[in-house]
Amino acid sequence: MQDYVASLLTQVKAKNPAEPEFHQAVQEVVDSLSVVIDRHPEFRAAKILERLVEAERILIFRVPWQDDQGQVQVNRGFRVQMNSAIGPYKGGLRFHPSVNLGIMKFLAFEQVFKNSLTTLPMGGGKGGSDFDPKGKSDSEVMRFCQSFMSELFRHIGPHTDVPAGDIGVGGREIGFLFGQYKRLANEFTGVLTGKGLAWGGSLIRPEATGYGTVYFAAEMLAARGLTLEGRVCLVSGSGNVAQFAAEKLLELGARVVTLSDSNGHLYDPAGLDQDKLAYVKQIKNVRRGRIREYLEKYPEALYTETDPGADHNPLWAHKADLAFPCATQNEINGKDAAALIRNGILSVVEGANMPTSLEGVEEFLGAGILYAPGKASNAGGVATSGLEMAQNAMRINWPRDEVDSRLRHIMKSIHQACMDAADTYGCPGNYVAGANIAGFMKVANAMLDQGLV
Ligand code: NDP
Repeated sequence: MQDYVASLLTQVKAKNPAEPEFHQAVQEVVDSLSVVIDRHPEFRAAKILERLVEAERILIFRVPWQDDQGQVQVNRGFRVQMNSAIGPYKGGLRFHPSVNLGIMKFLAFEQVFKNSLTTLPMGGGKGGSDFDPKGKSDSEVMRFCQSFMSELFRHIGPHTDVPAGDIGVGGREIGFLFGQYKRLANEFTGVLTGKGLAWGGSLIRPEATGYGTVYFAAEMLAARGLTLEGRVCLVSGSGNVAQFAAEKLLELGARVVTLSDSNGHLYDPAGLDQDKLAYVKQIKNVRRGRIREYLEKYPEALYTETDPGADHNPLWAHKADLAFPCATQNEINGKDAAALIRNGILSVVEGANMPTSLEGVEEFLGAGILYAPGKASNAGGVATSGLEMAQNAMRINWPRDEVDSRLRHIMKSIHQACMDAADTYGCPGNYVAGANIAGFMKVANAMLDQGLV
């Protein structure tokens, strides 16, 4: 079986050259699945793995727009419609200069398993652009979003593909994208999630990824008779996921001592409180500023500038009980993971997608710490997007408590599904294997049922 998996990976690398993030995501999943393929020869006969690594459809398109100086700018748009075996494609849009086809494919691939884990009927997709919203005026962002949607609108729909936000795509961008979709399609439908509350959005959707990640952490600890109370936590990032992970951690009595952005990280040994967090939200969401501005109000915190040449991320060198990487992919490498373990970390719970390199994952699994991969622990965001779709379809809005309690219930179910799959396939306590196997089984069986499509 190892030969089969190794040859599959060789093929994936040969057919998708220069896409290291996609190779990494596939490797992590198929490594966990060899034990499943062993027990289920029907999956191998139907070439389920070979079909899973091939997107159903990939769209790449030109996005021309005019900046405030009247200059023409050209970006590249993407939508990877990876797998629709269990529902319409669903997954976020990322606007960041680093976006390329390999990153889109890794995110779309991860999304297939994550969406399957949510218990809701959603296939997997992902999209975005190499457009950088940082430093752009609202008008520029609007013109870009309108141009982007002018092409994307013909490929999506409430029963086909329902995008959402991701890095660089928040409420402002979803608003502009939705407005242009509505205008072109001449219909008001739930074609995007993360919408404003007045026009089809769901309560708790903005909070859902961060809250869900912390609910997952609480489940992992509870299964061992532990709680978050008084635990020192490292959080990276300072965007949507990081802000709401920090908020829920504070609510549950944990102590958050770090946050970061792409320029650097801050370390506040006294810990954040709700006032400090409100100031962070003001800096990031209103001023659209940098995390170092935290020191203007709280000079006792320490700020460390990112060194692009460094072989490790100093944020992970602080001593703590739990770590919540909530910024971006591969922000914890093997060295960072080793530093966390050396400092006695109890648990690493991923809010971001694939924030840990393969070497880092090996370190965590080898050390036997409680390690939750993003496709399980950050699934609360897309799950609540699924709840937004359900509310849109029924034309009703659930109250905050109802959505929050459904989110908590879903995170509990995902945790249980990971534990059960890990037990069934002989690797108890391994959430990486558990998430990959549980996510895979549902999609693989649906693909078998639906024949060669
Ligand atoms: P935001 O754009 O709101 O925030 C991203 C944060 O990460 C910012 O602080 C940003 O800093 C930092 N960051 C981005 N790129 C880099 C980089 N290359 N190096 C260092 N820091 C970086 O995005 P989200 O919070 O929505 O997303 C964060 C992560 O969570 C991503 O991996 C995303 O895929 C994942 N995720 C998001 C979901 C959602 O619902 N939003 C759902 C599930 C997963 P800066 O301000 O400098 O750019």
